[in-house]
Amino acid sequence: MSHQVLALKYRPSSFEKLIGQESITQTLSLALNQDRLSHAYLFSGLRGSGKTSTARIFAKALVCDQGPTSTPCEVCEHCLSANENRHIDIIEMDAASNRGIDDIRELIESTKYKPTSARFKIFIIDEVHMLTTQAFNALLKTLEEPPSYVKFILATTDPLKLPATILSRAQHFRFKQIKQSDVVNHLCHILNLENIEYEKEALEMLSRAGNGSLRDTLTLLDQAIIFSKGYITPENVATMLGLLDPNQLETIFTAILSGNKNEMLHIIKELESYECEIVIDELIAYLKNAFFAQDRRFSTLLYERFFKILSESKSLLYINANNGFVLSLIFFKMIEATNIKTIEEMIDSLENEKFRLPASHVKAEVAQSAETPLTEPEVVEEVLQVKDQGVTSGMLFERLCDKLLDRNAELGECFKNCIRFVSFEDEQLTLTSSAEGEASKTLNTYYSIIKHFVQEVFGLETKIKINKIQALPSEPQPEPSFDPNYEAQMSEAELSANDQSSSMMESLEFDNEPQSESCATGAMMAGKVEIDAKEVLNTPFVQRATELFDPQKIQIRQKV
Ligand SMILES: [Zn+2]
Repeated sequence: MSHQVLALKYRPSSFEKLIGQESITQTLSLALNQDRLSHAYLFSGLRGSGKTSTARIFAKALVCDQGPTSTPCEVCEHCLSANENRHIDIIEMDAASNRGIDDIRELIESTKYKPTSARFKIFIIDEVHMLTTQAFNALLKTLEEPPSYVKFILATTDPLKLPATILSRAQHFRFKQIKQSDVVNHLCHILNLENIEYEKEALEMLSRAGNGSLRDTLTLLDQAIIFSKGYITPENVATMLGLLDPNQLETIFTAILSGNKNEMLHIIKELESYECEIVIDELIAYLKNAFFAQDRRFSTLLYERFFKILSESKSLLYINANNGFVLSLIFFKMIEATNIKTIEEMIDSLENEKFRLPASHVKAEVAQSAETPLTEPEVVEEVLQVKDQGVTSGMLFERLCDKLLDRNAELGECFKNCIRFVSFEDEQLTLTSSAEGEASKTLNTYYSIIKHFVQEVFGLETKIKINKIQALPSEPQPEPSFDPNYEAQMSEAELSANDQSSSMMESLEFDNEPQSESCATGAMMAGKVEIDAKEVLNTPFVQRATELFDPQKIQIRQKV
C-alpha cells in the first residue's frame, strides 16, 4: 500500500471520474467540445465538493494537444505536466495567502506575456473571496477584457462575499453538496481497489461525519484504515469518531418506546463522556433512517415530536446548558411524547367516557322515565334497545335534549317537558308530544332546529314521527301519526290539535302556497325560519338587492 493519502491518490483526473457534479461537468464538456469558451469562470460550493479538481481538469482540457476537448489525451506533454501540477502555463494562486494588491499586480503583469508552450495561460485563483477590496478592484479590468490567451478560473466557498462586479464578469457554476450515497459508493470503490475489507454501515458513518465533503471523508477514511487495522466496522468508526455505537442507539430508542425510566438513567450516565451535540446528531440520523425505512415502531406524530425535541435541545446547547441536563431533558421529553394522545384520540376517549355508562345506570334512567305519567309503559322496552358502542337510543335522545337546551333555553325546556322518546328503529324516531298552546307554538317555531339536531344526533336519514298525546289523561285523543319531514304536516297537525291559528308556520304556509303570484320577484323558497320570511323580503336591504340584481328567485335560508 502506498503512503500517499487517499484524497490525493484518488483525485479525479477526468470529468467522468468527478463525483456528484454531473450537470457542471456536462456543461463544461459541451463548452470545450463546441469551443464556446468564456474568459472567466467562477466555481462556488462547499469545500471538498470538487471545485479545485474540476478547475484542474478544465485547465488540462484547455491546454491538451488535442484540445480544447472534454477528453484530454492524457499522453501529450501538456496533459502529463498538468497531471503532475507542473504545467508552466497553468498558474495556481491561493488568495487566502496572497490577498493583497501587490500579489494581484504581479498576476496582472504576467497576463501581459504570452503562454510559454500551451495555447492558453490559465490562472486558477482559489478562495478568491479572501482578496482585499483593492485587489478586487485591480483585478476587475483584466478580468473583463483579458488578452485572448488568458483564462481565469476563480474558486470560492463563499460567493456572497464577492463584489457584484466580479460575479457579473464570470460564468458562475454552483457545486452541490455531494450526495451521501455517491460518497459511500466512491469509498466502496476505493476500498475495493485498496483490498481493504469494510462494512457499509461504517462507510455511511464516515460520510455523515464528512458532511458532504469528499476530501474530508477521504481523510477520515485514511484514519479509519489505520485505526481498524484492515477491517472497517461501525464499532471501530464509532469509537474513532467519538460517535455512539449503533447498538447503543438501538438500546436508547427501545428504552424510550417502552418508557423504561430506570434504563434511561443508566444510559444517560453512560453517555456523559460523549459530546452532547454529537449524540443529538446521531439520534437525528437514526430517526431519519428509521423514517425512510418506514420503521413501524414510530408513528408520524412521534417523528414530528422527536425531531422537535431534538432541535429544541440543540438550541439549549448554544446557551451553554449542561450536557447531562440536556440529555436527560431529551430522553424524558421523548418518553412523555410517546404518551401524549392526538386530539382525535382525546375526543374519542372523552366521547366514549360520556356515553359508556354502566347498564345499571341505563335501567335506572328508564325506570325514572317510566314513572312520568306521560309515557306509556310499553315504551320502556324500546329504550333498552342498544345501539353500537353501548350507546342506547335513550341516551341519544338525552343528547338531543341537551343540544336543544344549549341552543335555546326556552326551546330546550319546552321540548323536555312536552316530548317523550318512544323508539328509534329503521331510521325512524318516534316521539310523543303533549304540547299545547304556547308550548306547541314554540315547538312549531323551532321545528327546523329540532329537525337539524335530530339528524345530527340520530343520523342524516332520520325521519321523525310524532304521536300526539293529551296532557290530561282524562281526554285521551291520540292523533294519527304523520310524517313531519315536511314542516307543513307538522304544522297542520299541531294546528288542528291545538287550534292555534296564529302560528308562525301557518303564515308561512299561506305565503308559500300560491308561490307564483305571491312575489313579483318569483318563487320564494322560504320556510324553516324563526321570523316571517315576508318581513325579510320587505327589509330595505333585500329590496335594494332585488333592484340591483333583478333576481329570478330569492331563496331565504335559515342559519342553524
Ligand atoms: Zn493531451
